[in-house]
Amino acid sequence: MMLSLVDKLHREKVLSKEEFTALLDGFDKNIMQYLFSKSRAVADRVFGNKIYIRGLIEFTNYCKNDCYYCGIRRSNHNAERYRLEKEEILACCRQGYSLGFRTFVLQGGEDLWYTDEKLVDIISSVRNAYPDCAITLSIGEKTYEQYLAYYKAGANRYLLRHETANAEHYSKLHPQAQSPEYRKRCLYYLKEIGYQVGTGFMVGSPWQTSGNIAEDLLFIKNLKPHMIGIGPFIPHKDTQFAGFPQGSLDLTLLLIGILRLMIPNALIPATTALGTIHPKGRELGILAGANVVMPNLSPVNVRKKYILYDNKICTSEEAAECQFCLQERMKKIGYELVVDRGDYKEIDIS
Ligand code: SAH
Repeated sequence: MMLSLVDKLHREKVLSKEEFTALLDGFDKNIMQYLFSKSRAVADRVFGNKIYIRGLIEFTNYCKNDCYYCGIRRSNHNAERYRLEKEEILACCRQGYSLGFRTFVLQGGEDLWYTDEKLVDIISSVRNAYPDCAITLSIGEKTYEQYLAYYKAGANRYLLRHETANAEHYSKLHPQAQSPEYRKRCLYYLKEIGYQVGTGFMVGSPWQTSGNIAEDLLFIKNLKPHMIGIGPFIPHKDTQFAGFPQGSLDLTLLLIGILRLMIPNALIPATTALGTIHPKGRELGILAGANVVMPNLSPVNVRKKYILYDNKICTSEEAAECQFCLQERMKKIGYELVVDRGDYKEIDIS
């Protein structure tokens, strides 16, 4: 029964909510192996053994929002706050470029100190200095006009996880002021403007049900994002979710496999959160069908401050060390990091 669901997903690239829920509730190690043999074959057909790298620059941990799960939420007064100036961001890019990065991801809390004028200046400075690189933003919810201004300044991609597609579940993870509808609308704005768009969700966030995850999968199928980031929820000690269990490794891997079959050419990272809950998490993510890794380019002196969840890995290494370590890890499982922008490509492999 479960095996035939995997076959159906492989063939039709979607299942019904009931079928997804049954698969999420009823899978075991055999199903995982069966699914991964297919999802890896699909990833290998689209990307070969090439793994794209994205240089993550965590440029501010100030945030006006108060997401209950997040370590840099506004009301965490234990978080030591920092901001990077334009020159510091450019220095991260310079180092990343020399290490072979051709995508820079500027991620941060929603920090209003960075006015649109400042952001446009930063984006266009990176654009001018690195015309051959992709610029990805991950700075939360903005208006259509703001997204358009950043795009015109030279940004190409945008990461905005929908977090959970279910409005009731969303309201258990965020204060009332944060609207699940508006977050989703942002994703459609971004697509309309022409960004390559990434969305995603946490696996095992408090109160998440398999029905919720099935809704996430159907939301993603409908949105058709270019990138999909998922990782396990990991509690942070200074949040009200400190006592909740972390998300499951197996379920996260299963979902990577499912997403690979659903959207064969999607760019799917093996996330840092996955690497945090298991020493071989990122390798297992690649073997389940992921094709991207996102090493950190942030200056080492701020890394320990951009802590969304406890025990985050790679917070004391230099960028070059992380790069080398990941390269070796990928080599051991038969994959290689490449110097490439790694843009989304519209190809039909069916
Ligand atoms: N402020 C930006 C960037 C968010 S941080 C935005 O709003 O999009 C990137 C992602 O980290 C979030 O989208 C969330 O899914 C994830 N995250 C936050 N807290 C986490 C936790 N405790 N465990 C696992 N992932 C977490």
